[in-house]
Amino acid sequence: MKTAIAETSKDIEDCGCYNGSAGNAEEQLKNKLAHLWHMVGNTPLLEISYRYKGKCRKVYVKCEHYNLTGSIKDRMALYILQKAYSEKLIQPGNTIVEATSGNTGIAFSAIGRALGHNVKIIMPNWLSKERVDIISSLGAEVILISKEQGGFLGSIKLSEEMAQTDTSVFLPRQFENLYNCEAHEKTTGKEIWMQLQSIDKTPDAFVAGVGTGGTIMGVGNYLKSRNPRVRIHPLEPAESPTLSTGYKVGSHRIQGISDEFIPAIVKLDQLDKVVKASDGDSIIMAQQLSRKLGLAVGISSGANMIGAIQLQEELGDQSVVVTVFSDSNKKYLSTDLMKEEPVKAGYYSTDVELLDYRGIG
Ligand code: PMP
Repeated sequence: MKTAIAETSKDIEDCGCYNGSAGNAEEQLKNKLAHLWHMVGNTPLLEISYRYKGKCRKVYVKCEHYNLTGSIKDRMALYILQKAYSEKLIQPGNTIVEATSGNTGIAFSAIGRALGHNVKIIMPNWLSKERVDIISSLGAEVILISKEQGGFLGSIKLSEEMAQTDTSVFLPRQFENLYNCEAHEKTTGKEIWMQLQSIDKTPDAFVAGVGTGGTIMGVGNYLKSRNPRVRIHPLEPAESPTLSTGYKVGSHRIQGISDEFIPAIVKLDQLDKVVKASDGDSIIMAQQLSRKLGLAVGISSGANMIGAIQLQEELGDQSVVVTVFSDSNKKYLSTDLMKEEPVKAGYYSTDVELLDYRGIG
């Protein structure tokens, strides 16, 4: 009987160069996964200095746009597939089908194709054109779902229906798969801790926008295992909350966070209070990070930076507050990120002066 591993390794063997003839199918798959891990994780941590209300402060930011496909989602896509292989949940020739707001689709497309799978991505039709084009460019099929067809929840429903009618479909189910959190616990969280250790610091707080919640739960689990007093704050768009209401209210422009429901893997009772960032403020902050510091990041990164600054305001000038830049600005070139955003009273982005950064660890 052929196993998933045997079939996948045949592709690897055919191209020959990197795995040679040595080792059995299982070892060859292990090698392939190890090569992929060279491209995922171990991202730079930056210490960003800024001036706010006349005081100079520093926050720490993990640059997740340095992953293989340019987002934090590569970590969980590779980890989930690795676990699915080891538990024999994915077979040769299986099609990976996932409902996603974009970055997950890009991650599963690239990593799935690298492992020899066909990939189908189902997503709402109102997300940026760049996301759809990138997924298609990676050889995956994109299925777009309108608001009338159910939007995000409709995308998930369709993926479940496809799995029910076709046994060759593998569903990663990122919103309920605990390996999504574990990926961040074993990699992102641990890396943050170790990078801060290299400058003799430990985190006081971590904040991150919640999409699936994998980042906040996983990083939170690791940091709490090292220091139970560390504060772990989920972030959501001020205009369009989900976490603090239980259901999505209104709409917002911070793609990748605050989808239409609270994901099963998010355990609010294990987290500290929800931090909010306005989408206009997040756009201006992302623009400032690019224009002032040359850090070309996406809109949710701007939101996370605002969250970190808010928390530092609360915890004190010397507090060690950590967040992530989840992706780069490249997928938002057709969005409001490239336009002048009207300034509103109370924005952090216009009161904060970004000063400089240095790499840590
Ligand atoms: N920012 C962006 C740009 C994203 O694509 C995502 C993932 N949807 C997130 C933040 C949130 O990450 P997580 O799913 O781990 O909560």
